[in-house]
Amino acid sequence: MDEAILLKYDRRVPRYTSYPTAPHFDAAVGAREYRRWLERLDPAIALSLYIHVPFCSSLCWFCGCQTTVVKRYRPVAAYLDLLAAEIDMVADVLRPRRRVAHVHWGGGTPTILKGGDLLAVMARLRRRFDLAADAEVAVEVDPRSFDPGLAAALAAAGVDRASLGIQDFAPKVQQAVNRRQSFDVTKRGVESLRANGIDAINFDLMYGLPHQTVPGIVATVDQALELAPDRIALFGYAHVPWMRRHQRLIDESALPGARLRLALYRAAGRRLAERGYVAIGLDHFARPADPLAEAQGSGRLRRNFEGYTTDDAGALIGFGASAIATLPQGYAQNAAKVPEYRKAIEAGDFATVRGIGIDDEDRLRRDVIGRLMCDLGVDVAEACRRYDQPPDHFAPELARLAAMGADGLLTIDGPRVLIREQARPIVRTVCAAFDRYLQQDEVRHSAAL
Ligand code: SF4
Repeated sequence: MDEAILLKYDRRVPRYTSYPTAPHFDAAVGAREYRRWLERLDPAIALSLYIHVPFCSSLCWFCGCQTTVVKRYRPVAAYLDLLAAEIDMVADVLRPRRRVAHVHWGGGTPTILKGGDLLAVMARLRRRFDLAADAEVAVEVDPRSFDPGLAAALAAAGVDRASLGIQDFAPKVQQAVNRRQSFDVTKRGVESLRANGIDAINFDLMYGLPHQTVPGIVATVDQALELAPDRIALFGYAHVPWMRRHQRLIDESALPGARLRLALYRAAGRRLAERGYVAIGLDHFARPADPLAEAQGSGRLRRNFEGYTTDDAGALIGFGASAIATLPQGYAQNAAKVPEYRKAIEAGDFATVRGIGIDDEDRLRRDVIGRLMCDLGVDVAEACRRYDQPPDHFAPELARLAAMGADGLLTIDGPRVLIREQARPIVRTVCAAFDRYLQQDEVRHSAAL
């Protein structure tokens, strides 16, 4: 497909890890609302739990996560007391003990924790919740500071999936973003995880970083594949220095423009496909037998704050600073900064400071956007039927997509929208047509490509 056509639709649009998206959360949802939502949570619904660890040992300049650099362990240990209190607070509301199908440790750097501390949090979760025997327990790993001894503690805690951050192996790129990580360090991390029985390995790569070249990103993919990961996420770097001040440390003149970003994405994707990995949604790749690829094949793929997932739990509870809960009634987010989070938890209250309640119109649009993000296609009439809406409910949105159809990016066959494979990079722009909140605030988001 002509790159000029794809670039024409390279708009500033959300990543759609939720709908409505986080910029539309506000103070209308606070601790009282969150408690009420939890109280009304159907006990039959299985839960997914997310634990946020907002600490790292150094700052990567591209980072878009909520994190703080710490040089000592004391703030981390103090934070664990708050996490324990929050876990107890939620569990006290959710009686009887709720079934949990999925646990995800994210950050920041969860592996900054000492093994015994991580085990203690997991033990508390198991005490206060009913963790299914086959529950997936996933953890994000920073290979640079990963103590091989921690792998045994992770295994003992029930961790069965690890996501390792890599981004790019080229020293020049690593230097430009303040993240030096050799191939050998990454390899040692993978080997110690596997040696302890943690076999499900994900890698995070990134395109759009300073000094990246097409041969360079292909070399990074090749090196990553030497370690035989099950899944690879190929994230586009979002340069939003007006929101993430530390990104100002990145030399903007070394950043690839839209044309090169597209070439990087395509080259990395092509290499992964040549090596037998299946493209999943916007930016993930998996081995054909991986549960993520199987979920895509059977229409069960989901998208949440962690990206693409097989997790189909009916509600997600977030623990820790900045963590977001997804409940049937809406989204609720904790205070992003640790001091504010601490103040609320120490006062015996939830730390919710923002969120959004959703109605059926939001749920319908979320379903449509979710299917487009996961399947690259959707039958809008079928979605409307589930919410008692007439089949022509989305006529204005389909009309808006006609130009993309005329440009050969997608087909509109009655109520069915099908995005062409080559238009995968701009799937978010298609989703934006169904976003009733997205008006004049494009500047808050990153470019689609
Ligand atoms: S290790 Fe991860 S969370 Fe920490 S600064 Fe780097 S990218 Fe951000």
